[in-house]
Amino acid sequence: MAERIKIVLDESEIPREWYNIQADLPNPMKPPLHPGTLEPIQAKDLEPIFPMNLIEQEVSRERWIKIPEPVMEKLALWRPSPLYRAVNFEKALGTKCKIYYKNEGVSPAGSHKPNSAIPQAYYNKIAGIKRLTTETGAGQWGSALSMATQMFGLELKVYMVRISFEQKPFRKIMMETWGAKCVPSPSMDTEVGRTILKQFPDTPGSLGIAISEAIEDAISSKNTRYSLGSVLNFVCLHQTVIGLEAQKQMKIAGEYPDIVIGCVGGGSNFAGIAFPYVCDKIHGKKVRIVGVEPTACPSMTKGQFLYDFGDMSKKTPLMPMHTLGHGFVPAPMHAGGLRYHGLAPLVSQVLEDKLMEATSVNQLDCYKYGVMWARSEGFIPAPETTHAIAAVAHEAKKAEEEGKEKSILFCWSGHGLMDLAGYEKYFSGKLTNYHMPTEEIKKSLAALKGYPKP
Ligand SMILES: *Cc1c(COP(=O)(O)O)cnc(C)c1O
Repeated sequence: MAERIKIVLDESEIPREWYNIQADLPNPMKPPLHPGTLEPIQAKDLEPIFPMNLIEQEVSRERWIKIPEPVMEKLALWRPSPLYRAVNFEKALGTKCKIYYKNEGVSPAGSHKPNSAIPQAYYNKIAGIKRLTTETGAGQWGSALSMATQMFGLELKVYMVRISFEQKPFRKIMMETWGAKCVPSPSMDTEVGRTILKQFPDTPGSLGIAISEAIEDAISSKNTRYSLGSVLNFVCLHQTVIGLEAQKQMKIAGEYPDIVIGCVGGGSNFAGIAFPYVCDKIHGKKVRIVGVEPTACPSMTKGQFLYDFGDMSKKTPLMPMHTLGHGFVPAPMHAGGLRYHGLAPLVSQVLEDKLMEATSVNQLDCYKYGVMWARSEGFIPAPETTHAIAAVAHEAKKAEEEGKEKSILFCWSGHGLMDLAGYEKYFSGKLTNYHMPTEEIKKSLAALKGYPKP
């Protein structure tokens, strides 16, 4: 029988429950701290920012959390997402490894992000919230949440990191098409934005700044809450549909992966594919789990595990995470979605406990393998996704050198059809590599002196 290269599940196979890794972690996550008192945060401290139903999910230790029916209905628009074996990319690489990928680029917004945007819009809606605010880097999250808020009849304002806003004008149009309002950040619409613009009129912006603006807006506006597309526990939770489906599909393929790989910005698509496998690993299964980040924004490989703020203006709780410091403004590079100074506390804990490994790849390698991917497999990957592809190629090469044939599964987090400007720069030789100097990281982390250590 011919090998199956596309494994599609029936709609009835969408997971009915999310997997909560907090139930299984050998060392529970350290609590987030109140930025003023430095005491563990209380649910009521978060109430001006998030609705109570999501706060409850954030702290839940229950292993399985039921996915509400209205959320299932929306997810079914494109879920279960297909799992493929990348036989043509294997040939292009000349590897004997088997490479499988879970294609999250088939969602209407083009990435894994709607997996959490939809439940977040839903939970805010049933809590009586009328309007959401958020930030977006590359524009993927802003687009996903625009679609989701439209589905549930909420208003949305998106603060988009200025450099992306200028590089990716089509993203704004996408968001407007779905009914949202999108402004470049820093903006004149918030106190934080005005202050930063006065000091640094030419700043390219950063996720940290945009988060500050979105939170300020949420706290100071009526019936409004804030929404975040990565990092938080409940976002990692919502993304586990990826890994849960992949496990079923890999079974049909007759494989258990030797290596599971995901690219890491805030950590949500990685958590999505990896956490169900981390659960297996905790329970004795042999599997390597690898997170991949850019050399230009190396929170896992060069940052430190510290309490840090999620945003630039220190409005969020202090979270225990691998970080480069909240003041860190990464070098402009094309994987906008990977330009975040921190990392999901849950992924950080998994890394601390050595249940996963971390690696970094440079921009030129990413585009090289991204182009090879498009020319062999057809789908054009998002710049973020090319990081996972480059790491897969590196692992395949390593296996070759060791004389082994491995099976590798990775999360193909999104398509790059809205990010072609990066490809254009690559083809014209205008892209360079950037390694974050250790000195600069040290300087940025010095701002955390005096805060508690996790
Ligand atoms: C946002 C994004 C990422 C990075 O975010 P995570 O929270 O780390 O998953 C990766 N890939 C794509 C396509 C994205 O849109």
